[in-house]
Amino acid sequence: MRIESPHILRALGELGVERRPAASLAELTSLGIGGTTDLLRIRQHGHLPALVRLLRDEGIEHRFLGGGTNVLIADGELPWVVLQLIPPQPDVVVEGKTVWVDAAADLGRAVTTCARQNLGGMEGLIGVPGSVGGALRMNAGAYGTEIGRFVREVEVYRSAKGANETLREGEICFEYRHTSFAPGDVMLRARLELPVRPYEEILAGIRVCNEKRRASQPLNQKSAGCIFKNPPGGSAGRMIDGLGLKGFRVGDAMVSDRHANFFVNSGRASCRDMLGLIAEVRARVRAAHGCELEEEVIIWNA
Ligand SMILES: Cc1cc2nc3c(=O)[nH]c(=O)nc-3n(C[C@H](O)[C@H](O)[C@H](O)COP(=O)(O)OP(=O)(O)OC[C@H]3O[C@@H](n4cnc5c(N)ncnc54)[C@H](O)[C@@H]3O)c2cc1C
Repeated sequence: MRIESPHILRALGELGVERRPAASLAELTSLGIGGTTDLLRIRQHGHLPALVRLLRDEGIEHRFLGGGTNVLIADGELPWVVLQLIPPQPDVVVEGKTVWVDAAADLGRAVTTCARQNLGGMEGLIGVPGSVGGALRMNAGAYGTEIGRFVREVEVYRSAKGANETLREGEICFEYRHTSFAPGDVMLRARLELPVRPYEEILAGIRVCNEKRRASQPLNQKSAGCIFKNPPGGSAGRMIDGLGLKGFRVGDAMVSDRHANFFVNSGRASCRDMLGLIAEVRARVRAAHGCELEEEVIIWNA
């Protein structure tokens, strides 16, 4: 979608929005898939309610993008604009055991910044790419750790109320790759509390997790991490692998030959290729195991 109306462009300017017309979302996502639309980047969290109100009043639909590492986006010209937060500096502030972290901050950098202040616990999250906001939305987790465990409060823009609000830990439910945030909620900032640990111990944990990732994941290929959630008590990757589907492809979308739950863009895969691969693999797992796999990747169809 291309915003061309002069009065909307003027209003965006007044809100300090940085607009990139016809941005390629393929370039903003780890899968390297996605069409084009206007990208609206906002620095002042306080301006988000006014921006969303403006878009709503003008009948312009929007989606909210973090680091783009867990989304599969439709091809072609997209019928909605994309919003993204610009991180303030500093975006991670440590006060004793408390960490204030901006939603736009890079998650891995937040983990290492905390480690340098002797705050541990999040070592397992070190290789999870993307932003803190995306991690909060997805309750990102790895190697026995999930971000939700450390959250004490989250400042959220609540689209239902049209205002920013602070949610405390008991008011948010964090489950396996699922949270109770409403679909229109935008994470702005979080307060985490982390255990104090010796730096060397945290660093050793980080190294172990990095090593495990390097040994098992196709880190040099374009992917969105695991495509499917693990079914209760099972492993989607093991089921797919067991069906001999490593290397199976639809166009340039391919089941990784390193990790069967990672689907990679091996060249110029389209969203259509990737959706075709997801549907085919899901059908085969259903036929073999009677199990309906649920996507972990967020799909933005046009
Ligand atoms: C190589 C690789 C390895 C990965 N390994 C893991 C892993 O071990 N564990 C794991 O959990 N995930 C993993 N992932 C998936 C992904 O990195 C995580 O889900 C990550 O937390 C997504 O963050 P993001 O900022 O990129 O979100 P995006 O992909 O930009 O968005 C994901 C969803 O979050 C929403 N969102 C983003 N920011 C905000 C915000 N501020 N407010 C509200 N909603 C928001 C988006 O609208 C979208 O619905 C991996 C991905 C890759 C490519």
